[in-house]
Amino acid sequence: AERAAAVTWNGVGATADGVEVKVVANVGSASDATAAAEAGAQGVGLFRTEFCYLGADDEPSVETQRAAYREVLTPFAGKPVVVRTLDAGADKPLAFLAMGVEPNPALGVRGLRVAFDRPDVLDRQLEAIAGAAADSGAEVSVMAPMVATAAEAAWFAERVRAAGLPRAGVMIEVPAAALSAREVLGAVDFVSIGTNDLAQYVFAADRMAGALAELNDPWQPALLRLVAQVGDAGRELGKPVGVCGEAASDPLLAGVLAGLGATSLSMGGSAVPVVGAALAEHSMETFRRAAEAALATASPADARDAVRSVLSA
Ligand code: PEP
Ligand code: MG
Repeated sequence: AERAAAVTWNGVGATADGVEVKVVANVGSASDATAAAEAGAQGVGLFRTEFCYLGADDEPSVETQRAAYREVLTPFAGKPVVVRTLDAGADKPLAFLAMGVEPNPALGVRGLRVAFDRPDVLDRQLEAIAGAAADSGAEVSVMAPMVATAAEAAWFAERVRAAGLPRAGVMIEVPAAALSAREVLGAVDFVSIGTNDLAQYVFAADRMAGALAELNDPWQPALLRLVAQVGDAGRELGKPVGVCGEAASDPLLAGVLAGLGATSLSMGGSAVPVVGAALAEHSMETFRRAAEAALATASPADARDAVRSVLSA
């Protein structure tokens, strides 16, 4: 089935009736980026920059960062790439950013919260990203992780613009940000929903806890309702809404996310052809009906069944 799907993926993400839904990749290294470009990704929806820092005792210099980012961006010259600023803290502590021991690291000083204490680290990263964007010719946007409020989003966007970068966005992975999608989107150029952390925080269920996997299922209707709120806000404001969590790599869920208002889907490179082909199988109208059906259920299993029955009708 995967080979058949790959054959029908023509490299342009769109529904059967031609509504564009960009199919882009999550990457964390130059080899990821090369593989994603070869798989036909239309760009990068999430470049996790932490890789450049993990294991570093000292903050890498701007030049070192710039060279590392350039390697990831180069396969996507002329294409859109969303670079996420450092998502440190929680399970990814960094030696040179000693945040202290936290009783609840997932709820602690992580992601953009680190930058409120150390804006100099963020500014140096933005300088390196701007340099790598110029070096590579990729159409770079920058986005912040773990944003909770519109004020945080506005603070970030101002620093991105001060660094000379043209587009600033934030991840929607804290429930408060999803519930304030209109206000958050008002402060930035785009958002991207991180369903991995959004599920964890909505269900109060550690994303790494195998025993809680059912609560972290991206088909949970409560999670989909939050995605719908963000999608509605995006349509209203005319701004892009991506999905870059694991949810986007499920070919059955991909069309539902599009129906809920996602304008791009970002996933591991190997899922790109399968998801691209799945989007081309139905019209946007059908995906909207599938999304409505999923929203009206009370469990992941019922949501899947409801969507299957709309798509096979
Ligand atoms: C997410 O939280 O859904 C996400 C895409 O980011 P990460 O998995 O890196 O936390
Ligand atoms: Mg996350």
